[in-house]
Amino acid sequence: MQMEQNKQRVCKRCLLSDIAPEEYLEHMRIYLNGLDESTKTEEALYQERLSQCRDCENLNEGICRICGCFVEFRAAIKGKACPAIHPRW
Ligand code: SF4
Repeated sequence: MQMEQNKQRVCKRCLLSDIAPEEYLEHMRIYLNGLDESTKTEEALYQERLSQCRDCENLNEGICRICGCFVEFRAAIKGKACPAIHPRW
């Protein structure tokens, strides 16, 4: 029931500027939880990817300076890769 309510709160056509800053994290969590399992990175690998991002000079406030993605989204997609010339993951 709680999950159903959360899904309804996600605005698929909203920009970040349309979302209250305190809701960003909640929207991200809902999005990640709603990813299809066939496209989702396995949890251990996901955490390893994020660990690499944390140590990377290109990470800036959760965003990769090379691709412009929120790394927590990019790393969650199995088929994505680090966009650096020398990829960390
Ligand atoms: S360059 Fe790669 S490791 Fe660095 S922040 Fe971007 S995605 Fe993460």
